[in-house]
Amino acid sequence: MQKTLFQKIADKEIPAAIVYEDELCVAFRDIAPAAPVHVLLVPRKPIPDIAAATAEDAALLAHLMLKVGDIARAEGLAEGGFRTVMNTGEQAGQTVPHLHIHIIGGRSLQWPPG
Ligand code: 5GP
Repeated sequence: MQKTLFQKIADKEIPAAIVYEDELCVAFRDIAPAAPVHVLLVPRKPIPDIAAATAEDAALLAHLMLKVGDIARAEGLAEGGFRTVMNTGEQAGQTVPHLHIHIIGGRSLQWPPG
């Protein structure tokens, strides 16, 4: 099966500013940041989106959730706060069909989003 864009980034076939990686996941800076800090956290496993995850992925999803806090702290977002977003499907604006968590912060963020 063809690799997704984020698999290619995780495998370092496409360059990206990686801020964290381990055996299960990779985090890198978004190419079009929506805020001073905008990191994408992706599992190495190419799950298309959160709705496609199964019970088999439970430990992986827990790992990702715990990494969100670690990355936010490392990026200096813990004090001011930050937002996590997982776009799923066309109406939510998902453009890359590989599960990813946006970690966004470093400025005041509007809520609700547009
Ligand atoms: P989505 O819209 O699917 O939730 O988010 C995809 C994100 O991937 C977008 O914020 C977009 O800017 C980012 N992106 C797309 N292509 C690349 C790329 O080649 N490198 C990096 N670092 N980010 C990308």
